[in-house]
Amino acid sequence: MTIKLLGLPQDNNSSFLLGPALAPDRIREALHSDSANMFTETGHDLGDASLWSDAGNVLLAGLEGLAAFEAIHTKVAQLIGAGHRVLSLGGDHSVAYPVIAAHTAAYSGLNILHIDAHPDLYDNMLDNPYSHASPFARLMESGAIAKLVQVGIRTLNAHQREQAERFGAQIHEMRDLSGVAGIAFDGPVYLSFDLDALDPAFAPGVSHFEPGGLSTRDVLSLVQRFRGNLVGADVVELNPHRDPYGVTAMVAAKVTKELIGRLIDTKGH
Ligand code: MN
Ligand code: MN
Repeated sequence: MTIKLLGLPQDNNSSFLLGPALAPDRIREALHSDSANMFTETGHDLGDASLWSDAGNVLLAGLEGLAAFEAIHTKVAQLIGAGHRVLSLGGDHSVAYPVIAAHTAAYSGLNILHIDAHPDLYDNMLDNPYSHASPFARLMESGAIAKLVQVGIRTLNAHQREQAERFGAQIHEMRDLSGVAGIAFDGPVYLSFDLDALDPAFAPGVSHFEPGGLSTRDVLSLVQRFRGNLVGADVVELNPHRDPYGVTAMVAAKVTKELIGRLIDTKGH
């Protein structure tokens, strides 16, 4: 068993701007930048090649819609089947649907910890039920998710409140984060991190600026401290077109490092 990093360069399900298809390679550059060392805060030396490796990008050029999802699903299922834990780099958030669906086949009773400004529970947006605004609606409809916990949400409209209620989502909205320290799961957990959960002051390189968000430290603390067994994760929605200084890519790389550390610490499986 080892941790596999996997790039998912897809952004044709974005509702507003393109760009996230360029993100996986920018995050890798930040991860390997000589400006920082390869230790996680929790003490793992990610310079040790026995702990994790890079599986490259899924080749998605020319693929759209469900054909791209199938390529993603196939690759993730193959890595899980070979005994690896997968940390994928988006891509827009639509990629979380095939990635997490592949995890549900391997991990029964899978829970999702979803960090985002948006609940991404739209039944359908802009006539695309598989857009980056809907992955968690599709996953909850599958019946394969034990529990969905969302953190950082600050864009609920009436439709998405109804959807959240229908799916039994547990939402920690920005206006009340008092319950976040107590987040705990029984069974396997998949963590999906949309960078726009962060306040744009910390992470301006995203397509949807949504002020009033989490700090980088809030997210790192959550990654390090939630109770549960992390089996897979993603970091999505970096838009390099809006990240001229690479600061948001560095934030993505920092969270990626701590996620790899948390995946190393996972017991069992
Ligand atoms: Mn999202
Ligand atoms: Mn978002």
